[in-house]
Amino acid sequence: MPRGPRKTDTRIVHAGRDPSVDAGGVNPPVQRASTVLIEKAEDLYRPGVWTYGLHGTATHRALKAALCELEEAEHCHVVASGLLACTIPIMALASPGSHILVSDNCYGPTRRFCDQTMSEWGCTTEYFSPDIGADIANLIRPETCVIFLESPGSLTFEISDTPAITAVARKAGIPTVMDNTWGAGHFHKPLDLGVDVSVQATSKYPGGSADLLGGSIVTRDEELSEKIRKLVINLGLAVSPDDAYLVLRGLRTMTTRMDRHQASGIAVAEWIARRPEVAQVLHPALPGDKYHDLWKRDFTGAAGLFAFALQAPANTTDVHAFLNALELFGLGFSWGGYESLAIPCDPQMRRTAGKPDFGGKLIRLSIGLESPEDLIADLEAGFAALAASIGARKA
Ligand SMILES: *Cc1c(COP(=O)(O)O)cnc(C)c1O
Repeated sequence: MPRGPRKTDTRIVHAGRDPSVDAGGVNPPVQRASTVLIEKAEDLYRPGVWTYGLHGTATHRALKAALCELEEAEHCHVVASGLLACTIPIMALASPGSHILVSDNCYGPTRRFCDQTMSEWGCTTEYFSPDIGADIANLIRPETCVIFLESPGSLTFEISDTPAITAVARKAGIPTVMDNTWGAGHFHKPLDLGVDVSVQATSKYPGGSADLLGGSIVTRDEELSEKIRKLVINLGLAVSPDDAYLVLRGLRTMTTRMDRHQASGIAVAEWIARRPEVAQVLHPALPGDKYHDLWKRDFTGAAGLFAFALQAPANTTDVHAFLNALELFGLGFSWGGYESLAIPCDPQMRRTAGKPDFGGKLIRLSIGLESPEDLIADLEAGFAALAASIGARKA
C-alpha cells in the first residue's frame, strides 16, 4: 500500500528531525550559540554559510520545519512573540504613505501598532468589518500595501469570508496576512484559502502551557518570505533556543490537546447557551451561530476559546461578581494553555468600522484541559454570584 499523503498530526510529530544533530535522540538538541566556528577562512564570508547564532540554530531549524508542516507552508520565520508575528509582516510590506487595511475585530495590540507606530511612519490604517467579503474591493487604493485579517476575531469570534477577500486581493495584487492563532494550523489552513502569509502566537496552543512567548510567520511565497526575512535580520530579532525548543515540544502534542479543547469548549458553550442569564454565545461551532456556515466551510474544528453575552441587566459589578466566584477559571490574559481562563471583554473592545451589539456584557472563556463537568460546576457558582449581585442592586 502506498504511504501518504500524511495527515497534519503525523507530520508534526516527525517533522524537523535531523540525525546529524540529534545524535539518536528523539528530540533536537537545545543548541545555544552566538559565535559559530568556521573551519576554513575561505568560508567566513561565503554567502549561505551559517555564521552567527542570531540567524538561528539547529533548534530553530527543527521548529521551522515543523511549523511549515503544520500550516502546509514552504517558508517560516520564528519571532519572540505573537505580536511580532503580526507586526513584522505589516512593517515589511508598508512604506511611508502606505494604506493598510485591517479587520476591525483584530487583536488589540495589532491595532495599537497600526494606530501608533505605523501612523508615525506615515501610514494610514483603515479598519473594515469582518463581514465585508468581496466588498473589500471598494476600500482598495493604489497605495494599499496589505490586507490584514483575523478569523475568527479572538474576542467576538466573527469568521470572515476569507476566499472572497483573498480573490479580490490577488486580482489587485495586494498581499494578505492572517492572524491564525485561533485555528492554529490544526483547524484552519489560511494558505489553502488564498491567504499569502499566516501568522500565529505560538504562545497559545503550540506552547500550550502558558510558559513561553513566541510567534510564527509562514508563507508559500518566496518573495514575501524574503521581505520578511530581511526585516527580521535587519532588526536583529532573535528567539532563544530554549523557547524555540519549548514551542517544538508543545507542537508535537498540539493536535491532541486541541481536539480535547474543542470537545470541552463545545460542551461548556452548549451548557452556557441554555442559561437564562445569557443573551447569546459567540462560538462558531454552535449550529445557531451567525458564522456557523462559514466555519463549517473553512475550518475543520474549533478552538476552546469563545465568548458569551449576559442579558442586559448585568452590569460591570455583576460581571466582576461572576468572575470572582470562579475557582477553576483563572482571571488572566492570553489563552491556549492547559488551564481555563476567563476575562471580561468590554474594556478592550475597540471597534471603529461599526458598533456591533452583542446584547450585553461580554465574557470570554478559554476552556482548558480540566474535566468539562467540573468547569460547568464552577460556572454554575459564577451564575449564582451573578444573580446575587443583580438581586442586591435591585433590593
Ligand atoms: C495572544 C495573541 C497575539 C499575540 O501573542 P503574544 O505572544 O502574546 O504577543 C496575537 N494574536 C492573537 C489573536 C492573540 O490572541
